Amino acid sequence: MGRPASAPAMGARARSVDQPPVRARVPTMAFDHLLQPLRIGSVTVRNRLVMGAMHTRLETLDRPVERLVEFYRVRAAAEVGLILTGGFAPSPEGRMDPETAVLASVEDLERHGHRRICDAVHAEGGSIVLQILHAGRYAKVPECVGPSPRRARINAYAPRALATDEVWHLVEQFATTARLAVEGGYDGVEVMGSEGYLLNEFTSPRTNERTDEFGGDLEGRLRLPVEIVRSVRTALGPERVLVYRISAIDLVPDGLTGGEVLELARRVEAAGADIVNTGIGWHESAVPTIAASVPRAAWRFAVRRVKAAVGIPVVASNRFTTPADADAVLASGDADLVSMARPFLADAELARKTREGRVEQICPCIGCNQACLDAIFTDRAATCLVNPIAGRELDFRSPPPGPAGRRRVAVVGAGPAGLAYAVTAASRGHRVALYDSADSIGGQLDLARRVPGKAEFAELLRYYRGQLDRLGVTVTLGQRVDAAHVVAGGWDTVVVATGVTPRVPDIEGIEHPSVVSSLDVLSGRVEVGPRVAVIGAGGVGFDVAEFLLGDPAECLDAPLFLARWGVDETIGRPGGLLAEGRHSGRPVRPSPRPGDPASAREVTLLQRTPGRLGRTLGKSTGWILRARLAEAGLRELSGVTYERIDDAGLHYLLEGQTHVLPVDTVVVCAGQDSDRLLHEQLIAAGLEPVLVGGAHRAAGLDAAAAIDEATRAAYRL
Ligand code: NAP
Ligand code: SF4
Repeated sequence: MGRPASAPAMGARARSVDQPPVRARVPTMAFDHLLQPLRIGSVTVRNRLVMGAMHTRLETLDRPVERLVEFYRVRAAAEVGLILTGGFAPSPEGRMDPETAVLASVEDLERHGHRRICDAVHAEGGSIVLQILHAGRYAKVPECVGPSPRRARINAYAPRALATDEVWHLVEQFATTARLAVEGGYDGVEVMGSEGYLLNEFTSPRTNERTDEFGGDLEGRLRLPVEIVRSVRTALGPERVLVYRISAIDLVPDGLTGGEVLELARRVEAAGADIVNTGIGWHESAVPTIAASVPRAAWRFAVRRVKAAVGIPVVASNRFTTPADADAVLASGDADLVSMARPFLADAELARKTREGRVEQICPCIGCNQACLDAIFTDRAATCLVNPIAGRELDFRSPPPGPAGRRRVAVVGAGPAGLAYAVTAASRGHRVALYDSADSIGGQLDLARRVPGKAEFAELLRYYRGQLDRLGVTVTLGQRVDAAHVVAGGWDTVVVATGVTPRVPDIEGIEHPSVVSSLDVLSGRVEVGPRVAVIGAGGVGFDVAEFLLGDPAECLDAPLFLARWGVDETIGRPGGLLAEGRHSGRPVRPSPRPGDPASAREVTLLQRTPGRLGRTLGKSTGWILRARLAEAGLRELSGVTYERIDDAGLHYLLEGQTHVLPVDTVVVCAGQDSDRLLHEQLIAAGLEPVLVGGAHRAAGLDAAAAIDEATRAAYRL
C-alpha cells in the first residue's frame, strides 16, 4: 500500500471568510462578537458558538436513533452556530469501546440515521460536522492499535503497533469516512487530533517509538495527521468544512513542546484544514482540564498561541461556560469561535437566549460531570444534572395543560427537588407557591456552593432565583410550614420536597460537645477546631474535608491553579509540564496563609468499610479531589469500628487494637435519612401529596436524581 496520490497542493484551497447577515436579530450591545456569522467554503455558520463533540451514548445501536436526531435538532432550532457530533470511528479497532459507532460503509450511514440527523439540523437552519475519532491505544476493545505497543494506564488493553502499510491504509479510512459524511449530508468533518487519541499518540515521543516514516523526528511524528488532513480535504472537496482538533497543550510527560504544537497547526493549515479547534490535555493527564475546580477560561493562553500561529479561524474550548466569557475571548482576538459542549446539555437554548439578550435565563453548566461524563464512563447515556431533559427530549414532549388543567400548587422545600419542581410546573402554566424554613433557597445546593471547587453551584442558585421571579412563583422563606397550614391553603396539588436529615450514628458519646454535623460545618454555624475527625467518607465527608482543607482561590484564579498543578504557560517544556507541581507527585506546597485555619488544620477522614476511601466519588472528578486533599495532608482511615467520643477525642478499633484520635471536633457525615414528617402528617390529614427528592428516597440520592425525579413529576402534573 502506498501514499495516496490525490493529495492537493499544500495551502492551495481558497477560503472565504465573511460576515453576511443571516438572520435579523434583536439589536443588542452585548455579544456582538459571538453573534457574528462566519462563512467557510459553502457553509455559513450563523454565529460563533460551536457545540463541541460529546459522546452521549445516544449513538449506540440499542438506543433509537430518534433520540439522537431530536437531541441535535432541538439545539439547531435554538440557533447554535456549528454542531460537532460525537466521534465516529473510521474502523472497528478505532472505536472507543465495543458500543461506539463506526462509519466505514454505506450500511453504517443508514444504520446510524446520519441522513436524518443532517436533514433535521439543516431544516432548522443549523450546520453540522461529523467528528472522526480513532481512539488508538485508548480504545477499550481487545483489537486496539497504536503507533507502538505501549499500554495506556487508563486502558486494560495493550495496543498492537500498526505496520507501515496499515498506517497508510488508515489515511484512506479517514478519507472514506469523510466521503461518507458528505454523502450523509454533513457540512464537513472534524478530525480528532487531541485528548491523547491515535493522532496525538503518533505526534508524541511518549507513545511513538516507531522508526519508519511515521516516527522518529518531528517530521515523521507529524506525518500521519498531515497526511490525513490532505486526504480528507480531497474527499470533502473544496466546499465542505474541515476542522482539525489539535492538542494545544498535551499535559503529559514527553508531550509536544509549544513550538512543536504550533508547527503542527501550521502544517495542518497548509494541508487544507479550514478551522483549528483546540483540545487541552490527554485523557491520562494528571492535570484536570474541564472539572469545576478548573478556573473558567484557564486554558486561554494555549489557544492564544495557536491563534497567533495560523491564518485560519481558531476555536477556543475547555471551561468556557458563559456567553460573556466566550464573547470576551473573541473580543480579545485570542480565538474566532468558542466551543462549549456541556453548557449545551445544561441549556439547549443557550445560543437563542444569548441572541435575545436573555443570558440570565440560561441554565448554567456547573462543571460537575455527574450526569454527563460520569454517566458515560459507567455505560449510561449522557444527560445533565441541571437539565434532565438533555438527551431525553422525546420523554418531555407533553404540551403544557390548557387553562382548565392549570393547578394551584404548593411546593414545600426549596432544595434541588423543590426548585426543579416549582420552576418546571410554573413554566408549564401552573400557579406555584414555594416554601422553605431556611432563609434562602437551595438546601443541599446552598451548602455545596461553599465547598472549594463547587462555586459554580452559586450560579445555579442565581438561575433558580431568576426563574422563580420571572415565572411568578410565590416564595416564602424562613417559615416552617406544618400540615395545618398546608391544608388551609386548599391547594390542588401539594408537593413534599423536604429533603433529608443527617443520620446520627449510634456511637457512645455522640452527644459530646465536640460532635457537630456536616450541616453545622458547611453552613458556618460552628467553629471547627484545628484537629478534626470526619466520620463517614461519602460525597459529603469528602466535601467537608475539602471545605476544611481546601483553598477556594485555586479554583477561581487561573495562574494560581496552573502553578499548583505544575503547568508551564510558555509550554517550553514537553507537554507544558513543570518539573514540580501536583501532577508530578512533587507538589509545590503553598506557604501557610497567616490567619487561615485551613492551612494549619489536621483532618482525618474515617470509614468502617475496609479499603480505599472515595470509591463513590465521581469517576471524572474524584481523583482531582483526592490529589488536592492528599497534598493538603488529609489522613485517611478505613476498616475502623467507632468505640466512643469523649474529652480525649475519638476512640476507634482498627485490626483489633484500640486507638484514640485526639481531636477538637468530630464532624458526622454518616449519610442521610428522608425527612417525611410533613408527608406523614398530610397523609393523616387526608391529602395525597407528591413526594420528591431526598424526602422520597435518601439512599443513593444525589442532586441529579432529585432534579430528574422532580422535573418528571412536574411534567405529569
Ligand atoms: P453516603 O455517600 O452514603 O456516605 C455515607 C458515609 O457514612 C459512608 O462513608 C459510610 O461509610 C458512613 N456511614 C453510613 N452509616 C453510618 C453509621 N451508621 N455510622 C457511621 N458511619 C456511617 O452519603 P453522603 O456522603 O451523605 O452523600 C449523600 C449523597 O450525595 C450520595 O449519593 C453522594 O453520592 C452524593 N454526594 C456526592 C458528592 C460528590 O460526589 N462529590 C458530594 C456530596 C454528596 P461506612 O459505612 O463504611 O462507615
Ligand atoms: Fe454540566 Fe454537570 Fe450538566 Fe454535565 S451534568 S452538563 S457538568 S451541569
